[in-house]
Parts: sequence; C-alpha cells; structure tokens
Amino acid sequence: MSILSVKDINKRFGGLQALNAVNLEIEQGTVHAIIGPNGAGKSTLLNCFVGRLEPDTGTVTFDGKSLLGIQPHEINQAGVARVFQTPEIFGDLTLLDNVLIPAFAKRDGAFRLNGWRSAGRERALIDRAGEMLADVGLGAKAGEIAGQLSRGDKRRLELAMCLVQEPKLLLLDEPTAGMSRGDTNNTIDLMKRISERGVTMVVIEHDMHVVFSLADKISVLAQGAVIAEGLPENIKGNERVQEAYLGGAHL
Ligand code: ADP
Ligand code: MG
Repeated sequence: MSILSVKDINKRFGGLQALNAVNLEIEQGTVHAIIGPNGAGKSTLLNCFVGRLEPDTGTVTFDGKSLLGIQPHEINQAGVARVFQTPEIFGDLTLLDNVLIPAFAKRDGAFRLNGWRSAGRERALIDRAGEMLADVGLGAKAGEIAGQLSRGDKRRLELAMCLVQEPKLLLLDEPTAGMSRGDTNNTIDLMKRISERGVTMVVIEHDMHVVFSLADKISVLAQGAVIAEGLPENIKGNERVQEAYLGGAHL
C-alpha cells in the first residue's frame, strides 16, 4: 500500500522545467531512494512534499490526505518529518534543548517559546529527548552547544529532532553528505534501525554505497523526470541510468 502518492507534479522556475510530470508511489514501510545527477530536481521534489514549494500542477497525497495548500507544521503534525540538505538546528542551544523543542511541539500541537521553557522542567519530555539523543549516538553530548558539533553530529542531532516527533514518513536529503566513511556507516546502521521500527523513508542520496545498503526501491531522476524505477539490482545495470550519470557518480 502506498503511504505517499505523487501524481503528475510539474514545477517551473522561470524558463527552467525543474520537475516534469513526476509520478511516485512510496510503499508503506519501505526505504525508497531517489537518485540522480546534480540539479536533477531531487531537492525540489522533496520541497513539494513538505510545503516549502508549491508545485504548478499535480497532487501529493499522504495517508489519504492532500499535503498541498497546508502549512509545513500541519504536514509535520500529519506524521511527515524531514532532514534538510543543510542541517537546520538551533546553534546557540544545547543538544537537549534542540530535541525538546520538537518534542514539545509534537505533544502540544504548536510551538510556543514559553511552553518550551516549561517543557524544559518536565521530566517525561526530558527523558524522551535524552533517549532520542542516545539513540543517535549523542547521549554523552546532551549538554553541549549544538553549533559546535561536527557536520556528522549535526546531522545526527537533526535525526533525533525528527525521531522524537515519531514520524510515519521520514524524508532525508543527502543524509551522509560530507561525512567520513565511519560516520556514513553509523548513519546507515541508524537508518536501518529506524526502518525496522516501521518508519517509511524517502532518501535522496549521492553515495551509492548508502543507496545499495538501504534501498528497497530506487527512482532515478534526471532533468526533472523519472527516467527509471525499480529494485536496486535492476537499476544498477540500467542503460539510461548509466547515461544520466556519465561524467558524474558511478553506479
Ligand atoms: P538536486 O537536488 O537534484 O541537485 P534541485 O532540486 O536543487 O536539484 O534543483 C533542480 C534545478 O532547479 C536546478 O537547475 C536548480 O538550479 C533549480 N532550482 C532549484 N531551486 C530553485 C529556485 N528556488 N529558483 C530557481 N531555480 C531553482
Ligand atoms: Mg539537492
């Protein structure tokens, strides 16, 4: 069964057709990778799922409800969480506070600064935020200031901020970009654990080691259009995919 159904999405930026009649079905409980050369439209597509961009045409349906024309926080409340291409964290706050903010917003349905400050005194929320940090391997750094973290740790923190919201669908835009091989492997393990809990994931990823370690299904985007789709073993040898990647990443 599809949890996310994307039909006939078009998106134009001036003279550039960034997305061209994109259709996508994301099956519940799977890890679905979206790959493709730089500028293919991958981030634009994800932005259309979370209310950051409005497609010119088409529909995006999650869990039977349209995600178009509603606010990003409503999309979040519906059970969709996203890790951005550039980590979006509160650099001046501690790691614990960074996770408390979405934990509180999830529980109370809205973010209010006063409410969040009082949340900082609630044992149950603090424990939960601490568990999430431990889950992503940052338990020992809960009291540190987030802005000082390494890039890999910032990404892990962002994952904890997503997981505390207990999403049904997690969207990840290049989660291992800029990470060392060791951090990348830790992130693969973490994503496998998240997937085993039943969270559906859509992952945009450049690193083919990550893609082939995780993906149940792959869609290949090139120049705004889906040029191939299928099981990893079928995508690997696909000629159109090889062509789209010529001079770029290798499959
Ligand atoms: P990818 O994530 O696959 O690398 P993007 O979705 O970021 O690609 O971009 C697809 C194309 O759309 C690129 O040519 C990019 O320059 C262009 N683009 C993306 N966002 C905007 C925007 N806000 N305004 C104008 N052009 C954009
Ligand atoms: Mg991108």
